[in-house]
Amino acid sequence: MKQVIYLDNAATTPIDKDVLKAMMPFLTDEYYNPSASYDYAYDLSVKINECKNIIAETLNCNPNEIYFTSCGSESDNWALRYVRPGGHIITSKIEHHAILNTCKYLESIGVEVTYLDVDSHGLIPINSIEHAIKDNTKLISIMYANNEIGTIQQINDIGRIAKKYNIVFHTDAVQAYGHVDIDVNNDYIDMLSASAHKFNGPKGIGFLYIRNDVNLDPLIYGGHQQSGKRAGTYNVPGIIGMTTAAKTSCEHINSDCKYISGLRDYMWNRLSKEIDDIFINGFDVKSCGRVVNNLNVCFKNIQGEQLLTLLSMNGICVSTGSACNSNSGDVSHVLKAIGLSDDDASSSIRFTLSKSNTKEEIDYVIDVLKRSVEQLRRINKNED
Ligand code: PLP
Repeated sequence: MKQVIYLDNAATTPIDKDVLKAMMPFLTDEYYNPSASYDYAYDLSVKINECKNIIAETLNCNPNEIYFTSCGSESDNWALRYVRPGGHIITSKIEHHAILNTCKYLESIGVEVTYLDVDSHGLIPINSIEHAIKDNTKLISIMYANNEIGTIQQINDIGRIAKKYNIVFHTDAVQAYGHVDIDVNNDYIDMLSASAHKFNGPKGIGFLYIRNDVNLDPLIYGGHQQSGKRAGTYNVPGIIGMTTAAKTSCEHINSDCKYISGLRDYMWNRLSKEIDDIFINGFDVKSCGRVVNNLNVCFKNIQGEQLLTLLSMNGICVSTGSACNSNSGDVSHVLKAIGLSDDDASSSIRFTLSKSNTKEEIDYVIDVLKRSVEQLRRINKNED
């Protein structure tokens, strides 16, 4: 099999070996339905409670505030349903489509939504949040870290405002959980979405943290699982896998961040010196306002899709924007929101690194990038 250099970790991550090992018994011998009445099943329900304890510890919340879902999108959909027709949501223009399309649906049934602008780094000006609050504002939903440009929002300030006005605060932390230290109490977060496949856990499992005093109706009705709030037979292997991945990621945040940011900074340092006419989208790599694994670069005068194809032919996986949007042909709503022209937005590539990448891989990627960008610019020039 061809050697793959994977720099698309914001789209998804591989399952850690230890995670798979922890899951295996629950895919084979321990297959019982945890809601059944015999002892074997009861043992599984005990395991599920242990998982809630472990995840709760990573967020500094109570175990009974963790609800398992099928993915980040489900968690986002559920959190936003807190608002009923007549109510008002404040969100931003750079949210993931799991938020934006749910808001669109909610608008169609009479919910009011304000989509806040961001500055050229992708940051929401804090005063714009307070200005947007109305009498009927029920929810502020702002992503923790952006999936395309890696901008980390001023979550603590936003949480304080929400608390001051007694408004529920939800954050889509799908790109942050397991990569950034999060404390829901410290940051006044009332609901938080996460997804296991973004932190080396399995696909098909995520969670929503719901503070005990937030009265959220079920999204899925059925059995009595999860206090009747989220019906459906427990995905035991998924829960075990996600918890193992959560524990490992959260325990190693500092060392992993140091390693990954070193690699990312090395990559940008070389790129910025060795390829002309490029710039970084979002905060500078030195800024703490950027998640450590993200590098989003505009290579002027090339088509990002063409560059992606050349990289792919050389075994390198990257993305031109969010994975969910990559086949739509639309210009990134995030890059537009930070003020890029259509041309610059479609000349941009997102690299998202991981603890598995090496300096040798980055050197190889830079060599391929240099050749490919030059080739594409030459072709474009000849066509003009
Ligand atoms: N929110 C953000 C910020 C994301 O990046 C993603 C996925 O890329 C999602 C939500 C959706 O997560 P999932 O793929 O688990 O549904």
